[in-house]
Amino acid sequence: MTPDYNTLLLAIALSGFCLSATLFASWLSARVERFLLSWSLGIGCIVPAVAAYSAYFENPDYRIGCLAFMLQFVGFAFIYGAAYRFRTHRSGRRRMILHFATCSLVALPWLIVGLDGIGFIALNLLIAASMIATAAEYWRGRDEAPLPLTGIVILYLLTAVSFLLCAAVLIHDGQWVLGHAPNNWAENLNLVMAIIGITGIGAMSLALNQWRVAGSHQRAANTDALTGLLNRRALFDRFGDEPVGAHRAAIAFDLDSFKSVNDRYGHAAGDAVLKVFADVLGEVCGAAACIARLGGEEFIVVLDRTLPDRAQNVAERVRADFAAKLIPIGRRTISCTVSAGIAFGNAGCASFDSLLSNADKALYSSKRNGRNRVSLAA
Ligand code: GH3
Ligand code: MG
Ligand code: MG
Repeated sequence: MTPDYNTLLLAIALSGFCLSATLFASWLSARVERFLLSWSLGIGCIVPAVAAYSAYFENPDYRIGCLAFMLQFVGFAFIYGAAYRFRTHRSGRRRMILHFATCSLVALPWLIVGLDGIGFIALNLLIAASMIATAAEYWRGRDEAPLPLTGIVILYLLTAVSFLLCAAVLIHDGQWVLGHAPNNWAENLNLVMAIIGITGIGAMSLALNQWRVAGSHQRAANTDALTGLLNRRALFDRFGDEPVGAHRAAIAFDLDSFKSVNDRYGHAAGDAVLKVFADVLGEVCGAAACIARLGGEEFIVVLDRTLPDRAQNVAERVRADFAAKLIPIGRRTISCTVSAGIAFGNAGCASFDSLLSNADKALYSSKRNGRNRVSLAA
């Protein structure tokens, strides 16, 4: 074994170990991104795999070879599993087991019967295929974070090519029986590429994790936990500073006598009513509308490029649909009504604040006039 080769193997083991530990630690701190855990387990397998491979290099006993192969297959199964989990949020356990079993069944028999050259060809081809499958998973999910994901895909593909070259050299030389670990320029290139791949992909996976964590915090900060609608902060972030055009309408909704729902049936029943109302808003207003819960039992719908008739239709349908809902609470069903007020952007309504306050005034005239109705701002 040349010292160069040994140094490269050691570098792989070291960088694999450090990355595995870093990714494990960042998984521990967030515990949301399980793909990091799978990745860290996969890379973690590289350390014993390198140790076994190095032992095989010194002593080409087929049993040590089998161990080295299997450790690599476990590692790449986890790495593929991480990509699958990243894209689908599913565990992918079955795929990983299938992956490991297929690779072992295809490659190990050659080592056992003494055709170790074919065994190494199979090993390189299988790992290349596995990396291409891994790259394909990230490619399919690339919309989430195009830059780091494209980088990851490129690194996986380049590393896959270096495995393909190892197989190609053995095939070209017709080395079906080696009696020792292969040692040629492609193997050296493969090790260098593996070091670049491991460190590059590791760094980008951390970036990806940060990206996701930041995104989920941002969503949580903008979402009302009970109904899943936007909250007040999100509403004002979106519209607070914009000038209000003439075709922007705001509809303010406030559930009627909601306090008595809580008083009579309990707070949980009140929450159930709020969720039903949020569902009605979603069904009636559609995806184009911006629907927010301002707080308590007060909601706002902002409609853009809309005419008074349409805004009135929307508010009226929400009112009627909600009034018709029978909401199951324990063994009985209850119903509830809502009042609404509509305001439009116009010359007297320059800011979003004043649009909302006009809608609020209209809402209170609905309340004054008996509730369960829709009023238009003057
Ligand atoms: P009005 O018809 O005039 O609007 O009467 P109201 O009873 O609906 O109005 P009021 O403002 O007196 O009561 C609102 C109630 O909403 C009081 C509060 O306990 C309840 N509430 C606020 N937030 C929540 C919530 O998240 N869950 C539940 N269950 N109740 C809430
Ligand atoms: Mg209220
Ligand atoms: Mg109310």
